[in-house]
Amino acid sequence: MLDSAFFQRWMSGTAAAVDAEADRLTELDSAIGDADHGSNLRRGFAAVAEALEKEPPGTPAGVLALAGRKLISTVGGASGPLYGSLLRGTGKALGDGAEVTAAQFAQALWAGVDSVAKLGGAAAGDKTMLDALLPAVDALTDALGAEGGEVAAAFGAARDAAESGALATVPMQARKGRASYLGERSIGHQDPGATSAALILRTLAEAAA
Ligand code: ADP
Ligand code: MG
Repeated sequence: MLDSAFFQRWMSGTAAAVDAEADRLTELDSAIGDADHGSNLRRGFAAVAEALEKEPPGTPAGVLALAGRKLISTVGGASGPLYGSLLRGTGKALGDGAEVTAAQFAQALWAGVDSVAKLGGAAAGDKTMLDALLPAVDALTDALGAEGGEVAAAFGAARDAAESGALATVPMQARKGRASYLGERSIGHQDPGATSAALILRTLAEAAA
């Protein structure tokens, strides 16, 4: 079972990871964007970690709702509302139990990823964060559904799928977001948002380990 402490761990781990990787994320965004992705997420997740520490919500849904709200209110770039929708959409689908199963979480994550797709209008192959998120929820669902599907291993499979998904954005041409203004010149660079999404799936696996 996953309780609110698990989701707190995920969010504080993400704040630390984003802080450590901010320069790399900004460097990727300087190639095909406006060089603010690392600083955007650093500011956003620092605010998330602070808010959660000050008033820890008692349910998984409460943790994700607060985290999503904070991202939306503190991040100016496109990624703030998009990650905010991911977390809020996931939280909303979790219901208000004190604990959820990994399978319930995987299903809720589909709802969260769906909110990202609805808000941003992007699909698989558009060179966005969805190119890491979609394969990750797919892998998580598959691994949990498999015979004897073990929870920590399933989160590990999701992490690996997100990482491969982020790498697979390199040859893609961006069709959404700022990078799409570059047309063919967006080819050959890894998408910053897909890279941060892989990071968020890594911290999820760490929280589950
Ligand atoms: P901005 O582009 O406003 O400067 P960020 O640099 O923080 O915002 O985030 C850029 C990332 O956001 C991109 O690398 C991409 O993954 C993601 N992104 C941008 N637009 C969309 C969209 N419409 N749908 C999904 N993801 C998007
Ligand atoms: Mg940017």
